[in-house]
Amino acid sequence: MKGPAVIICRHLIYLTTSHTTEKVTYSGNQLWKITNDNKTTLKLLKTLAKEKYLTLWKLNAKKIDAMVDHKHLNHVKEKLLENNQKYEVSVEDIQKAIDEANPKPQEDLDERKGYRLTWNHYHNLDDIYDYLNYLEVIFPTICTVSTIGSSVEGRPIKLLRISNRNPNNKAMFVEGGIHAREWISPASVTYIISQLTSNYDNEASYIKNLDWYFVPVLNPDGYEYSHNVDRLWRKNRAKNKISNCVGVDLNRNWGYDWGKSGSSSDPCSDTYRGTKPFSEPETANIANFFINNPNIQWVGYLSVHSYGQNIVYPWGAPNVIVEDHRELNDVGIQAAKNIVSAGGENYTVGPAGTVIYEASGISMDWARGSQAIKYPYSIELRDKGDHGFILPAEFITVTTKEALITVRTMAQIINN
Ligand SMILES: [Zn+2]
Repeated sequence: MKGPAVIICRHLIYLTTSHTTEKVTYSGNQLWKITNDNKTTLKLLKTLAKEKYLTLWKLNAKKIDAMVDHKHLNHVKEKLLENNQKYEVSVEDIQKAIDEANPKPQEDLDERKGYRLTWNHYHNLDDIYDYLNYLEVIFPTICTVSTIGSSVEGRPIKLLRISNRNPNNKAMFVEGGIHAREWISPASVTYIISQLTSNYDNEASYIKNLDWYFVPVLNPDGYEYSHNVDRLWRKNRAKNKISNCVGVDLNRNWGYDWGKSGSSSDPCSDTYRGTKPFSEPETANIANFFINNPNIQWVGYLSVHSYGQNIVYPWGAPNVIVEDHRELNDVGIQAAKNIVSAGGENYTVGPAGTVIYEASGISMDWARGSQAIKYPYSIELRDKGDHGFILPAEFITVTTKEALITVRTMAQIINN
C-alpha cells in the first residue's frame, strides 16, 4: 500500500521537505545564566558551543545565557569553575519547561464564535491566519488580507492592512515571527491587531491616520516546525545544496549590510545568512512588496522578537549609530516609560549593536538603509532569561500589552 503522503498535495509538500517528523527532545538540558565579567568568558563559551557542549541563547556585555547539553553538565561546570566563572541555573530541565509552558486550552476553542485564536495560549499558524481572515470579514471597511508570496515549503505569507483609506496617511510596518521559536512575537502582533481593530472608531487620530501593515508570521515554515518538531528552531526550512544543515536565519538575509559580522557563512550556524541578500523567499517577498508599492509613505517599521527586554534602533554594527539617533532614542525611551507606567517590565533602549550584539543583514537596518524609513525599531520582548525562549503562556497577556504600548507610543510621536 502506498503511504498517505501522496493523497493531498499540500501535505505532500510539507512531508517531503521535512527531514524528520519525530519531535526533538531537550530532556535534562539546562539553561544557565553566566556572568560575563571576564575577558575569556565569551571565548570559552564559544569553544564549548563549537564542541556542542552547549548552545548560546543570548549574550550581552553583562551576561550570557547558554543551554547546556545534559550529557555535558559536569564538564561545562568544571570549565567554568577553572575560569572562576559565576553561573546560576535558570531552567533545570528545558524539556519539562517546554512541556509545561503551553498547556492545552481548557475551553473547546472550536465552540468559540468566529475564531480560535486567544492570548492565553500559543497557537499554530492556521489559528493565526483564520483570525486574519475573520477580521477581513467582520471589519471589511478597514481590514484587508493579502498573500504577499510563499515560504520555502509553500505556505502563504499573509499581510493584514488596517486603514481608514485616507489617501494622505503615512504607513507603519510591523513584522513578527521572523525567528520561529520566539512565539511571543506572533502572539504580540496579533494582539496589537486585535486591539486596534476592536475599537477602531474611537482610536486617536494618530492611530487612524496611519496605514498599518502587519505580517504576524514572516517565517511560517519555521513557526510550524517549532510547534510540531523542534520547539527551539530559529531559521526558515530551506534545504542547503552543500550541507545537510537546514535553514537560513531570515534576520541575517536582508539586502542591507548583508554578509558582514554578526552573521555566519556556515549553513549549520543559527545565524546562517544564506547565499546572497534576499536568497530566501520569505525576506524577498517583503522586499518585493515594498518595491511594488512605491507610493506607500513608510514612516515606521517594527520587528518583533524575544527575548531580553530591549527596544533598539539601527545600526546592528557595534558602536555605530544613526545621525538622528537622539530622535529615535526619544521614542524608545518614551515607550519604555509608558510600559513601566502601565505596570510593565523595564526595557533597555539604545542602538542594536551596542545594546544587544552585533548583527548584519537585519530587517530593521534594511528599513532604514535601503528604504529610508525614519523610525525603524526592533523590540526584544520578555523575559530576561528566566525562561528565555520558553516564555510560559501565563505571560502572554502582560507581554503583548507591552508590545501594544510600544506601537502606540511610536504612532503617537511619529504621526503627530
Ligand atoms: Zn529574534
